[in-house]
Amino acid sequence: MAEHESLEFGKADFVLLDNVSMEEFMANLKLRFEKGKIYTYIGEVVVSVNPYRAMNIYGRDTVEQYKGRELYERPPHLFAIADAAYKAMKRRNKDTCIVISGESGAGKTEASKYIMQYIAAITNPNQRAEVERVKNMLLKSNCVLEAFGNAKTNRNDNSSRFGKYMDINFDFKGDPIGGHISNYLLEKSRVIFQQEGERSFHSFYQLLRGAPDSLLRSLHIQKDPTVYNYIKVGGQIKSCINDGADFKAVADAMKVIGFTGDEIQTAYKILATILHLGNMTFGVDGDVTLIETPKLVSVIRELLSTKEENVEKALLYRTVATGRDVIEKQHTEQEASYGRDALAKAMYERLFCWIVGRINDIIEVKNYDARIHGKNTVIGVLDIYGFEIFQNNSFEQFCINYCNEKLQQLFIQLVLKQEQEEYQREGIPWKHIDYFNNQIIVDLVEQQHKGIISVLDEACMNVGKVTDEVFLQGLNGKLAKHAHYTSRKSLEFDRDFRISFIYSGKAFTGDSSSFPHFANPVLKGMWPEGKLSITEVTKRPLTAATLFKNSMISLVENLASKEPYYVRCIKPNDVKSPLLFEQERCRHQVEYLGLLENVRVRRAGFAYRQTYPRFLQRYKMISEFTWPNHDLPSDKDAVKRLLQGCGFDHDVAYGKTKVFIRTPRTLFSLEEQRAEMV
Ligand code: ADP
Ligand code: MG
Repeated sequence: MAEHESLEFGKADFVLLDNVSMEEFMANLKLRFEKGKIYTYIGEVVVSVNPYRAMNIYGRDTVEQYKGRELYERPPHLFAIADAAYKAMKRRNKDTCIVISGESGAGKTEASKYIMQYIAAITNPNQRAEVERVKNMLLKSNCVLEAFGNAKTNRNDNSSRFGKYMDINFDFKGDPIGGHISNYLLEKSRVIFQQEGERSFHSFYQLLRGAPDSLLRSLHIQKDPTVYNYIKVGGQIKSCINDGADFKAVADAMKVIGFTGDEIQTAYKILATILHLGNMTFGVDGDVTLIETPKLVSVIRELLSTKEENVEKALLYRTVATGRDVIEKQHTEQEASYGRDALAKAMYERLFCWIVGRINDIIEVKNYDARIHGKNTVIGVLDIYGFEIFQNNSFEQFCINYCNEKLQQLFIQLVLKQEQEEYQREGIPWKHIDYFNNQIIVDLVEQQHKGIISVLDEACMNVGKVTDEVFLQGLNGKLAKHAHYTSRKSLEFDRDFRISFIYSGKAFTGDSSSFPHFANPVLKGMWPEGKLSITEVTKRPLTAATLFKNSMISLVENLASKEPYYVRCIKPNDVKSPLLFEQERCRHQVEYLGLLENVRVRRAGFAYRQTYPRFLQRYKMISEFTWPNHDLPSDKDAVKRLLQGCGFDHDVAYGKTKVFIRTPRTLFSLEEQRAEMV
């Protein structure tokens, strides 16, 4: 429980609510938001509400207030969580992780940056140059990743369109010595299409608005974004984003991190190629498909330093296997447009993954010898998209929501487990807690042979003949009886199915494309596979869904091996207003984040626990037996005496090192008595 905060701001910890009900929870959340208190605890979990205004609570002085302090000693703050994770890592040699969740625009990425900033601020007191360099690169990497991975959406002007998990490695002194970034599921469909009011990735507009004329000329690019089909929609947006200045900042950051001039130029060439691709059109002459924009072919050839025929081939043909041979089959006009878009998306995804890979090469821990320096410990920070529900939910929403089901499950398991372990350690009997175990949903998605992803893989087996129909039929065949699955037969649209939300079966079956033969060595590095052989063409590639499933399973395993800390972010309204707390909107988030359940689990046993000496330190003035000092054999005996004296003996349990208080009311009463005395 957080001290140093008066009750006029509501309860600093939801565990202290009189009754755990949605009404009380929401009333407290709203009151605190209105009083400018954006953080509230549930035990050691931080609930955060996006303030949508600059808060003066992240400066050096605030850092100093939280540095090395215990969680409950200060008002709730991200810094307290960051410090707790850091202390666990440093004092107890534990790998820790901070999991930040919430929907788009709830404040996850900002939170992850404040956490990193805090860690940077409290480490390296000796100002070792190498450590300063590492810290600088870790912070700078954000700027580059955001340029290529973030976009303006209707929900958030700087929305991360990828999931990010970042490990920070520390040496035995507790100073950062390197890191590693994993990225998940970039929303590559944005490269070719955006909803009204949204933009493509920042990188495109930054290039157009920030690059010097000479660079634009060499890329054959015009300044006006509305010239380019792929970013036309978003190009009209007069946004508050300063693309021109950002272009320079990103280029500088890339240089500082260690990207070479050639690498940076190649990144621009790929962006330009994608823009040109979007303007390419096709036609037919008899049974031959033609490129109607031959000029663009030669521009792309130049940008990618490849041959014109390679560009044409990549756009007009696909490689198929017939028996023992690999043949080139010509696209129809429609297939060619589809293939062009697939190519543009694939190129952007490659570029993004390559950037992440380059950053990793540079920031990875080097020259660390555990035998000399002791264990190298890790703090992981996970900033990953929360549940997304639209009118139209496709493959990307499916993956995102599946990911959240898995994280939610991990959360429940770990919170329960932690509680249970603490009770065992303290010798207090454990009472079983009922909760909704969403394992059943996770299984529905990921089970071998009959899970949704397996069905999808089967439907994708016939390369070239993939149809949504096969997939949807497969689902009905295998899952018709599942309690949490609703087939399209009972839904309005023929191509939908439902697990909690309705997904459109269309667009689940993906695409692949290849673009080998580059002379440019940087490009070669991005397409290491080269020309496909017969075995590679015929062998079933892992589908996007399976790749995602595997990456989720390893992410969850990784998180489960660390001591977790949680930040749960809530978005107060849809209009980015600092004043508006939309009750229904927030209630919905509290619900699906399982926050009430979290409070219940936390309180199932005991609302509050504290070590005997600290408990005495705070409350000894309320009892004649303990003030100013006690003469009992132990602090534990003194606490017992104090609580018996107040008549609270029935509401507490005495563990080996801590006293546990069951109901918050008891604690309030203690607090009130204390307030009368001091
Ligand atoms: P998410 O990553 O969850 O989609 P962001 O972290 O990008 O959301 O936050 C969206 C926007 O909300 C930010 O660009 C910023 O304007 C505002 N915001 C979020 N957190 C804070 C904060 N702690 N203080 C001030 N503004 C914030
Ligand atoms: Mg984000």
